[in-house]
Amino acid sequence: MDNNKFVEVKNLRKVYDNGHEAIKNVSFSVKKGDLVCLLGPSGCGKTTILNMLAGLLSPTAGEILFDGKSMVKVAPKDRHIGYVFQNYALYPHMTVLQNVMFPLTVGKNKCSKAEAKKVAQKYMQLTQIMDLADQKPGNLSGGQQQRVAIARALVQEPKILLMDEPLSNLDARLRLKIREEIRSLVKSVGITTLFVTHDQEEALSIGDKIILFNDGVIQQDDLGQNFYLEPNNYFVANFIGNPVIDNFKVIKTDQELRSSQFTIPLALLDASRFKRNLPNGEYILSVRPENITPQKDGFLRVRVDDVELIGRERILKFTYDQGQARSLISLEESIQPGDEITLQLKFNRIFIFTPGGERVY
Ligand code: ATP
Repeated sequence: MDNNKFVEVKNLRKVYDNGHEAIKNVSFSVKKGDLVCLLGPSGCGKTTILNMLAGLLSPTAGEILFDGKSMVKVAPKDRHIGYVFQNYALYPHMTVLQNVMFPLTVGKNKCSKAEAKKVAQKYMQLTQIMDLADQKPGNLSGGQQQRVAIARALVQEPKILLMDEPLSNLDARLRLKIREEIRSLVKSVGITTLFVTHDQEEALSIGDKIILFNDGVIQQDDLGQNFYLEPNNYFVANFIGNPVIDNFKVIKTDQELRSSQFTIPLALLDASRFKRNLPNGEYILSVRPENITPQKDGFLRVRVDDVELIGRERILKFTYDQGQARSLISLEESIQPGDEITLQLKFNRIFIFTPGGERVY
């Protein structure tokens, strides 16, 4: 038994009946007790993966192992998983208590009513819904329904918990609260959890690690901070980060990186960070807005289009080439739209990509 591979997915593929290849040769593993976020834009295949793990969909090819055992031929009910759906899928005619007890009162492992009630109450206490026991789901708020759905998923004490966008129906403030609660709950129960979201902040805040997908392919499988500091490719660098990263078209020559408005001598870059020998030509230089900031005599002269307040900081927007770029500035900076300023960038924080998106620096 390898606790580092409590959940293991190997060379998984899914081609739907219409010929669409939603998952293309995906492999990853999840450590026992970890909460892992499957992150990616709409349509990238997150739900397809979750449904294959749950046994609701069968893979076209590949292997799924839980605790070292192949699951591909195991029926959903025998996989020992709990599934929390996006829309909660509660039974409207049952009370909260009946909803939470339900999984324990059906199937071959069903237990007595009294026993089911006892176990249900344990998880209702953990999810803080004891006082809602006699309510019907229709009378509950989104956050309360969410807790009922989680209690119901945990009541059979599954080995693995799958959650598909469980916070998407909640308002912004409640999302923050419930996501903290979910993290502390799954950690206190110690259950291995795969949590699907398209929200990078949610993933960064609750995931022990994040697996970022695009178009059915894993783009990066890593600790949250590495998505910022060491993005695998252009897609990752642009998907993660708020405000989004700035991208500048540059031409590399023997001596420098030259763009329409600035030139950076190659001597200023750290030669050891180049991932391979680069031929001269076109590249994309990317830098996060917090690493390109106003400074007297900076290397890039711009005219400020707009300044947007985002709580503790402000986003300074400027036009570059045909598009807009951003710099993150503090509230103390007295910069106004229309000002002409110069920006400096942190050379040790830039990334360089090929036009195809491969990271080369
Ligand atoms: P979202 O965040 O919007 O739920 P997702 O990342 O969960 O998206 P999936 O629902 O897994 O994405 O879908 C992946 C791709 O497969 C999408 O392009 C989708 O249109 C396609 N797809 C999903 N279900 C089917 C199906 N039954 N038949 C054909 N194509 C499908």
